[in-house]
Amino acid sequence: MQLSFEPLLLELKHPFRLATGMRTHTNDMLVRISLNGLTGYGESAMPPYYGETHQSAAAFFELAARQLQSYHQPLSATTIATIMQEIDGLAPGNNAAKAAVDIALHDLWGKMQGRPVWSLLNVAPENMPPSSFTLGMDTPEVLRQKLPESDGFQILKIKLGSDDDRAIIRTIREVSDKPIYADANQGWTDREAALDLTYWLQEQGVLLIEQPFHKNDLESSAWLTGRSPLPVIADESFQRLSDLHRVAACFHGVNIKLMKCTGLAEAVRAIRAARHNNLKVMIGCMTETSCGISAAAQIAPLCDFVDLDGCWLIRNNPFGMPDIGDGRIRLNAQPGLGLHVKTS
Ligand code: MG
Repeated sequence: MQLSFEPLLLELKHPFRLATGMRTHTNDMLVRISLNGLTGYGESAMPPYYGETHQSAAAFFELAARQLQSYHQPLSATTIATIMQEIDGLAPGNNAAKAAVDIALHDLWGKMQGRPVWSLLNVAPENMPPSSFTLGMDTPEVLRQKLPESDGFQILKIKLGSDDDRAIIRTIREVSDKPIYADANQGWTDREAALDLTYWLQEQGVLLIEQPFHKNDLESSAWLTGRSPLPVIADESFQRLSDLHRVAACFHGVNIKLMKCTGLAEAVRAIRAARHNNLKVMIGCMTETSCGISAAAQIAPLCDFVDLDGCWLIRNNPFGMPDIGDGRIRLNAQPGLGLHVKTS
């Protein structure tokens, strides 16, 4: 198999404000893995807070390309798992770079079999939950202007963790009555204030809270989880399957992202392990192209909550947009990830 890669700079439609900072671009890498005239596409989306860069990903892909050169046999779930174990062992970290390799291998597997990835993974597309659409933190005026962009979606995701989270929710409620997923992005510090806020958020039609406290403050998360009327979901506290035992007792659920957990192979195992621990499962994303979003969508019907809006938040997507209907991503019957590569 031949691996090639190409750096991309994803332009965000709006500067993205979180409790931890603001940005206008996301570093990204597009990966192609080819065998016998077929090509699978993969992607690494690399937001700055996880520390991966174009340079680190390029160095990792050089190692991965060398590793993959010796493979000529058809792919299967088992061979992909074996290959990804070797890829994982090439260097520590590099989770998004590893995810790009995993995603490209799955796309290639589907193309070799002439079947969609969801079908190869025994996923039922009719079980797709609705996806949320993220509105970044902003002034009331700007939030009102941005709201129409969420028209195709039934659920809003709102970033909290500001000095006045109630004001943000009130602003949204002036213009929309859609249910809300609230993400504090580690921005809360006071337990009692967080619990009060959680009850108030429930009254406002908020359905869940993501990552209330600092990722390492599992005690506060466990305290809130024991009292909150809303599900408390780990995001920054949960990266890979190996973190599950640490967070399982401290949250109601986990947010699985391909860029954190090295791709579909581990994500499927993480979903299974989370279920075994009676945890809710959310599948989320970074700002990504349709490649990463379509990959995550293949397994989204296995999850309770879906937050796959990344490709709607960027201007320069090199692929066609996923189909969406009734607020849900619709998986197509095309081989692999069902991507449409734009020719420009
Ligand atoms: Mg989050």
